[in-house]
Amino acid sequence: MIERTFGLIKPDAVAAGHTGAIISRIEKEGFKIVGMKKMTISRPQAEVFYGVHKARPFYEELVTFITSGPVIALALEKDGAIKAWRDLMGATNPAQAAEGTLRKQFAISIGQNATHGSDPAETAPFELVLFFPEIM
Ligand code: UDP
Ligand code: MG
Repeated sequence: MIERTFGLIKPDAVAAGHTGAIISRIEKEGFKIVGMKKMTISRPQAEVFYGVHKARPFYEELVTFITSGPVIALALEKDGAIKAWRDLMGATNPAQAAEGTLRKQFAISIGQNATHGSDPAETAPFELVLFFPEIM
């Protein structure tokens, strides 16, 4: 089933100059990029985006990090896009990420882990509308 999912290239990977390599990989893996914008996420937007993590101990750090510099927001389309994008990203902790995944190649730490992807649930439409209201 053709699906859309939401992705971010996080501030660590943008700052390190990995934008091009990650976009190139996304295209090689057969995703259609239906939306892409470079932006800096505001604190209020980050609080909505990461609202699901509000109770977690790393919440404050997470919001500070995601607003610390420019990101690339992505709307990605593919057959089974939500799982396919999470598979391409790899595990949250780069120490556990499989060879060939983006987080294995580009992540610095569990917090500064290069990319975001919607979870396989209702988060994809929520996140897509939050960042791409004009196309969703
Ligand atoms: N995170 C963190 N410490 C943790 C777990 C997660 O800093 O122990 C950060 C990390 O940047 C992660 C984000 O919080 O990408 C959201 O966590 P989630 O469990 O949803 O992981 P993801 O879906 O990004 O793999
Ligand atoms: Mg998540």
